[in-house]
Amino acid sequence: MNIPFLDLKRIPVGIKDELTRTFRRMLEEGIFSGGKEVNLFENNIASYLNIPDFVSCSNGTDALEIALRLLNIGPGDKVAVPALTWVSTAEVVKLTGAELVFVDTDKDGLIDLDNLIELPLDHLKAVIPVHLYGQIAAMEKLCKWSKEKGIKVIEDAAQSFGAKLGNKASGAWGDIGCFSFYPTKNLGALGEAGGIFCKDEELMLRARQMINHGQSYRDKHEILGKNARIDSIQATFLNVMLNYFDQWQIQRKELAKIYLEELSEIKALKLPLNCMQSQHSLHLFTLQTPLRDELRAFLLENGIGTAVHYPQIIPKMKPYHDGKSYPNAQKISQQTLSLPLNPFLTKKEVLYISRFIREFFKNQKTSFAIL
Ligand SMILES: *Cc1c(COP(=O)(O)O)cnc(C)c1O
Repeated sequence: MNIPFLDLKRIPVGIKDELTRTFRRMLEEGIFSGGKEVNLFENNIASYLNIPDFVSCSNGTDALEIALRLLNIGPGDKVAVPALTWVSTAEVVKLTGAELVFVDTDKDGLIDLDNLIELPLDHLKAVIPVHLYGQIAAMEKLCKWSKEKGIKVIEDAAQSFGAKLGNKASGAWGDIGCFSFYPTKNLGALGEAGGIFCKDEELMLRARQMINHGQSYRDKHEILGKNARIDSIQATFLNVMLNYFDQWQIQRKELAKIYLEELSEIKALKLPLNCMQSQHSLHLFTLQTPLRDELRAFLLENGIGTAVHYPQIIPKMKPYHDGKSYPNAQKISQQTLSLPLNPFLTKKEVLYISRFIREFFKNQKTSFAIL
């Protein structure tokens, strides 16, 4: 058997047909920027997330950069970011000219609030919690602290579309929430796409202008902006994909449950036990083991693709180097392995992968303490 980590060619044929028909309809309508599909997409997302409005944009990275610009963050300001995340979260801070302050994560990879609270507050303008792997950070506590200190909260909800804390969606807790619809995300386009939600209506209006050259309407340029509009064709595809989101979450949870059952006996593995919680939007199934690289190589030899999210923490990368240590984030980057988990995978494949993982650990001479 050959099981890639994620194979988007496996989108079910019925959905492929639906997407093709959608594309043909667009060709016939001849509207490739803006248009009613974009409005429809924004309304669909707003109602799905139960938020008053949603501004679609070019991608998740632009969403984050626009969030910072909307809050006038730039040179002389500091922004706190978890040490472990996809590079975008830190990249955008640098692009605005602000200074990065890294915060270690907890053992699950979420920003550690105890560390955050200890940061010196001078010039600290914003914090960007990242809802990594589909889990959601402790937003209630974080927002309360930020409000007290006058610090803005920008949520990086790129990996957590649909996750909830109580009744409130990830991305709706902070001052601004940023979303990505990159093809591999939980809700994925067939290309690049993203979106922004601002709690403040006025800011939301400016977000809408900023993604469209600062225009309030055609040729009326009110503020400094750029072109960060969504592609209409991606909005159209996402309108189709959103209809399958709930069903695909159910399928992801069913597959994750099999992994959890099949791998529960392996002492050298830390399993993502929180992923079955109803508020968790299952994105990645991440294991932790000190034998990560060996396990990964063994699975690959047997035709099973895996991924590492992420092999290096941001403050160790050349453009962001700060020489400090972030033990929890570091440990996750060295020990975490993402197993295939997507709605195009069969139960049989998950059982097959689990069998090879058990076999790998059975063959280890040394035994490991429980992590
Ligand atoms: C994917 C991702 C982004 C960036 O989204 P793009 O649409 O690829 O620009 C930002 N942050 C996190 C945590 C992500 O996973």
